[in-house]
Amino acid sequence: MATKKKKTKLTKREVEHFKKKILAERERILKQLGRIEESINEASNDSEGSKHSYSNHLADLGTDYMEKEKNFYYASQEGHYLRSLDEALERIERGEYGKCMECGCLISLKRLEVVPGAKFCIACKSKHEKQRR
Ligand SMILES: [Zn+2]
Repeated sequence: MATKKKKTKLTKREVEHFKKKILAERERILKQLGRIEESINEASNDSEGSKHSYSNHLADLGTDYMEKEKNFYYASQEGHYLRSLDEALERIERGEYGKCMECGCLISLKRLEVVPGAKFCIACKSKHEKQRR
């Protein structure tokens, strides 16, 4: 099947690079969402301390966020993006990061650089977009 020469996995260093990128991106989004949250619940400012724990692990999400808030965030565009980043982190944990979920080929580093949460290679992605129309 796959030839030995063809790269089918990201190197550890590449994965680390994207992991950092994703975590930084998550942080940015979470801060953004935090601002939204502040403007929504201006009255309650109880979650100040809990915002710092996101840098390291996914597990924090479930405990820190109320289900309702989560649904609200995930329904928003940023939330959608955030989820794609979370899923990318899960794929990193599973050692599947960088692979196209459809054809299994390696997503180009350039593409991951722009869309770190990318699930599909460009070929599959554009196929999907065509199908949607
Ligand atoms: Zn693909």
